[in-house]
Amino acid sequence: MNSFDIIIAGAGLAGTALTLELLNSPLRNNKILVVEQKQGVVPYDRTWSYWTVKKHQFSKAVQERYTSVTVASDEYRQTFNLRNAVLERISSQSLFFYAAKRIGAHKNVTVIHDRAESFYEDMDHAGVRLQKSGMFIAPWVFDSTSVNTTLPSNPFGVLGWTWTVRTKTNAFDTLAVTLFDFRNTPDSFSFFYILPVNRKTALLTLTQYGYQNEAQGDAKQFAMRYLKTAQNLPGATLENGSYGFIPFLNHHHDRNPSSHIVPIGVKAGLMNSLSSYAFTEIMADTERMVEAMAQHKRPYYPRHHTHFPGINRAMRRLIRQNPQVAKKMFIDLFKLNSNTDEVLSFLSQDKPFMEYFPLVRHMNPFPLLAAAI
Ligand SMILES: Cc1cc2nc3c(=O)[nH]c(=O)nc-3n(C[C@H](O)[C@H](O)[C@H](O)COP(=O)(O)OP(=O)(O)OC[C@H]3O[C@@H](n4cnc5c(N)ncnc54)[C@H](O)[C@@H]3O)c2cc1C
Repeated sequence: MNSFDIIIAGAGLAGTALTLELLNSPLRNNKILVVEQKQGVVPYDRTWSYWTVKKHQFSKAVQERYTSVTVASDEYRQTFNLRNAVLERISSQSLFFYAAKRIGAHKNVTVIHDRAESFYEDMDHAGVRLQKSGMFIAPWVFDSTSVNTTLPSNPFGVLGWTWTVRTKTNAFDTLAVTLFDFRNTPDSFSFFYILPVNRKTALLTLTQYGYQNEAQGDAKQFAMRYLKTAQNLPGATLENGSYGFIPFLNHHHDRNPSSHIVPIGVKAGLMNSLSSYAFTEIMADTERMVEAMAQHKRPYYPRHHTHFPGINRAMRRLIRQNPQVAKKMFIDLFKLNSNTDEVLSFLSQDKPFMEYFPLVRHMNPFPLLAAAI
């Protein structure tokens, strides 16, 4: 039987972060197996942006850091300087090539490109059966794969279109992100966000909330109109269009402490069910798990559930039922609070809700309460 000390099934964001965290810890000499179904170094094309106040496993691979955020709409625009937080951008190319170089230097890490088909466990071990390579066992199996994950037929989630914008003029401030530029359409809650790459190039993303199979308008035309009118960039061009859908999945946040199979990443309920962001939470969770393994030989640590499922559900409903009111609530959050770092922390739901009471006490709660009923 092929046995290892640790098996990591799925080498996307969480699996790769865990591998690097282990190699950077007292567990660095453990015999580690990493399994990924996709061939090549980069399993998928993706760009992560997120705000953070601390370094993480991929800090050296980050491509841009921004220190101010602009929040806007057709009738509002304000730029806020961040205090300690920064907004970062990292592409899957940069992240996975950086990781591959570091992992490649460690002979105790075996990487197999094969598909995990099933998992099993007994009292002391867990195992994974791979499509071509057979069975592998270890005391701990970390799982971010799609095995045993059922996707609803037409999930609700975040639809995102991303393009590279090129201009002839120095149109972009490389330290400032347009985080939310709300441009609702008659039937949908939409916002643009702009991540500058240099003074003449930026990534433009159109974000909408909706069902996966929902008919979508001409996103590119909408984006061209936005650049021409709202950004006053009539000469701008759009290239390399890509589309992504992030389903809101009801993965449980709770792990079973008696199990040797440990869900990680989105599969461990780390995706925020309003923003669909998960990067910073995956980094924090990975650090805590490896710390716990180094100290107690087990990856489990006390996890305090800080997400606001009830509020997120009500906010998602409000976004559907009344996009204009939802837009106003987002803008008020920034407008009514001088500490933008704290507003971003609230959006990440880093702390229990009551710790944000000073932040939300000025806001009108009734639209959300009505949407919650
Ligand atoms: C389009 C998109 C954009 C996003 N943008 C952001 C963002 O800007 N900021 C942010 O914070 N979050 C973002 N997220 C959310 C989240 O950060 C990502 O989903 C993140 O990649 C989740 O990490 P993960 O390890 O759980 O899953 P993944 O990164 O998807 O990794 C899972 C890996 O497991 C592999 N796998 C699956 N099944 C099997 C199997 N049976 N056998 C072997 N391998 C398998 C997959 O190929 C994949 O490589 C985005 C998500 C999507 C979909």
